[in-house]
Amino acid sequence: MIIEDFSLASVIKKTWSQIPSMRMRDRDKFTRNAGDAAKCHRQVAYKALGFKETNPPDKQAEFKMKFGDWIEKGLMYSFTDKCGFFGVQKLATQGDSGERDTFYGTSWNGYRDLDIAILQKNGTYKPCVVELKSKVGKSATMAIRETLYSKAYKIPVPDQTFGQAQQLSLYLRDAYNKSKGSKHFTSPIVDGVLLQLLYDDYSGIQTFVEYWAEYLPEHDAVKFYRVHCHDVPEVCAHIDVVIKLEDIAKRFSYQNEFIAKGELPPPEFQRKYPVSDSRVQGAYKTTLQAAVKGQALVGDVQCKYCSFRDQCAKDCNTSLTYSEDEVKQLKAVLKNL
Ligand code: SF4
Repeated sequence: MIIEDFSLASVIKKTWSQIPSMRMRDRDKFTRNAGDAAKCHRQVAYKALGFKETNPPDKQAEFKMKFGDWIEKGLMYSFTDKCGFFGVQKLATQGDSGERDTFYGTSWNGYRDLDIAILQKNGTYKPCVVELKSKVGKSATMAIRETLYSKAYKIPVPDQTFGQAQQLSLYLRDAYNKSKGSKHFTSPIVDGVLLQLLYDDYSGIQTFVEYWAEYLPEHDAVKFYRVHCHDVPEVCAHIDVVIKLEDIAKRFSYQNEFIAKGELPPPEFQRKYPVSDSRVQGAYKTTLQAAVKGQALVGDVQCKYCSFRDQCAKDCNTSLTYSEDEVKQLKAVLKNL
């Protein structure tokens, strides 16, 4: 029998917050995470300057993030333990990545979780960096459908809003630099896949979308050249999305100028659009419905997920409510939808 006051669930939850990660991260206020590549300048500075989060992830958000982690771990397990038969092997090249002052004078940290080798038709293996990401709920449907309520598909593009494409680009530059000249590789690693799991119960979307990418050392850029979805051929297409690594470094340098002075950069996004702003007309119906009830603000999605959003609103004098007149205008927009 298990002792009465033991709870496996509580032990699991403690591991989330109380067991330190053994991943080595060389950190200071000028070192970004790879996942910060597209983050709001001001949000990055709040964190680097040691502000306390006014909006840390709540229990539901914490679970959602864990689901993302678990999905990724599960996929890695499938790859490492089961894909060998199908010509896909795990390469032991993942691990800490990043640069210290060598990224156009800036620094970043990251962790490449999954590098694979794909068996080619000529019998050789092609090494490839995979970045696994998941989109769950409405955003999954919106990634490949024209609208939330339509059955028509669109050609998806790799996410840059939350920095997924930029993150893979940083990892590809890192993998290239580390494999260049290595006796273990006949040529440096340049290939990458942004592998996105899409899952939405409501629309029934459950699939993977792959964005194929190549690092171009002569331009220090990553080109996303193909989107592929095995289950939905309608979305397969050639694409041409180029991420210049120097552009990411310019963002880091800009942020560092403020951080060095202990100052905050201006907000890069808007938590609340003026009701007359044309972007209000394009908001989700559900967001507008919540806004007229005082339960949401119509603004940039980056602010919605920012853990310093109330600090930022206070510092920028942003009212977090709508006046009666503004509600009337929002209702008029809703009526026309
Ligand atoms: S609330 Fe928006 S503008 Fe302010 S720091 Fe966060 S993301 Fe940036």
